[in-house]
Amino acid sequence: MHKPGLTDLDVRIVIMGAGFGGIGAAVRLLESGQKDFVLLERSDRLGGVWRDNRYPGCRCDVPSHLYSFSFAPNPRWRSTHADREEVWQYLLDTATTFGLPTHIRFDHAVLEARWDDHAGIWTLRTNRGSVRCRYLISATGTLSEPMIPSIPDTETFAGTIMHSARWNSDHYFKGERVAIVGTGASAVQIVPSIQPEVEHLTVFQRTPGWVVPHHPRPIPAWKRRLFERIPATQRLIRGVLYWRRELAVSAFTKYDGIRTGLERRARRHLAGQVADPWLRAQLTPKYQLGCKRVLPSDDFYPAISQSNVELVTEPIVRIEPDGVVTQDGRLHPVNAIVFATGFRISDNPMAQRVVGRESHRLSETLSGDLPSYLGTTLPWFPNFFMLSGPNTGTGHTSQLYMIESQLNYIIDALEQLDEWDAVAEVLEEVATEHSKEIQRRSAKSVWGSGCASWYQNDHDANVVIWPNYTFVFRHRSRHFDPADYRIVPGRSVAGPSTLPASGGKD
Ligand code: NAP
Repeated sequence: MHKPGLTDLDVRIVIMGAGFGGIGAAVRLLESGQKDFVLLERSDRLGGVWRDNRYPGCRCDVPSHLYSFSFAPNPRWRSTHADREEVWQYLLDTATTFGLPTHIRFDHAVLEARWDDHAGIWTLRTNRGSVRCRYLISATGTLSEPMIPSIPDTETFAGTIMHSARWNSDHYFKGERVAIVGTGASAVQIVPSIQPEVEHLTVFQRTPGWVVPHHPRPIPAWKRRLFERIPATQRLIRGVLYWRRELAVSAFTKYDGIRTGLERRARRHLAGQVADPWLRAQLTPKYQLGCKRVLPSDDFYPAISQSNVELVTEPIVRIEPDGVVTQDGRLHPVNAIVFATGFRISDNPMAQRVVGRESHRLSETLSGDLPSYLGTTLPWFPNFFMLSGPNTGTGHTSQLYMIESQLNYIIDALEQLDEWDAVAEVLEEVATEHSKEIQRRSAKSVWGSGCASWYQNDHDANVVIWPNYTFVFRHRSRHFDPADYRIVPGRSVAGPSTLPASGGKD
């Protein structure tokens, strides 16, 4: 639904981004009786990563019963692991069911969000006017900006180039020679989907990932009817899935024996699917399972073993009009190059555009230079809440569990702050201690075991993953504690406060 542009709109709360985080935040605000908000979305449709990722084979490798909001169960999932269309439709349906369209402003890209310390408000400049608000919720996502590596002479390539998250659906690969760069979570879904139709597929692998058995399967109609008639049955399955997946945290943080057991299982999966010893050796990971995203797939290894596929492990040195050149001087002739090379995390441009007190930018937090608290609030960013912020990521379970935990915290905070019409900023020492604790835990877990991944910043610190059980995060984020904040009723936090330095309410 399109609405007129904003003209100096004043609202209490602005949510940026209409993916799972933004939609979840909007529903929870409405449920808590807060209607004075807008949700700004840069695109003309909602959906975040599930709108943007249209590559063939795209599906959620986390079970559908778990990858859904607790407040919006979907008894009609057609598959144990829904494909991209089904997940996207779920999000669209959820937004409609909860009456969100009237709150969403599509085609509104935030150019800058700046904290005004004198007025005690956030001012947002968008491509269609400005908005002032008391509270800002950022839900712009971690995996929103595609990363294409800068390979010399890429611009000279005569064929088609695309990124996995900016798929050109009008391009047909049938009969073409195709290169795919990367072997991460997106690539393992793309390779088996396009392998049967291309003439030749060259897969450029830098680091082999841990691939584990998957088993997605359709959910029969009788089960869907059962979930519809007796919702408790679906809740039970969700619970079982949740707790089974939490066991992975034990493997990643505490018990090497469980992890090495999982590694043995993954090696058996590889041995069972790849007969060629050379190929098997190339595909065998040399880091601890869990350090990078685990890749559930039953069809990646069989696809990569086909006669029209070549796995190349030589580094790429440049691109020529006709193909990709590797360090050994070999030209791999291709008509199309697919970059399944992931996303810009710490240099996400959106993080440059959010400016807090004393000109601090959100990017400083994402690069690990500034601390954050529960990945949700940040010193120098008053009245600012971030969904899927630093160290709230998970590789083993549903990210929505973490988002819902953050939303519990945010809703509680907004309700408490409303009482005082307050400006609140997390105390630097609270955030610093929290961030240090995360680094201490990470160092003793697989995320400190020495692999390179998008979970780490330039100093090898884990800035993405919550290195603990997710129920611990849920417990810690269940209440907003004013003692952790410097709270000023009314306006600025920069000036002298009438409150004690340790924060808290008068
Ligand atoms: P990714 O996991 O970051 O993988 C990127 C791949 O590109 C890696 O294999 C990486 O190699 C390679 N690469 C990067 N730069 C390269 C370069 N200059 N030269 C050669 N190779 C290069 O990205 P992704 O596959 O898009 O997945 C990102 C995240 O999205 C996942 O971790 C996951 O959280 C999410 N995801 C989820 C699902 C799902 O089903 N739920 C599906 C897809 C994606 P290195 O390993 O050596 O860095």
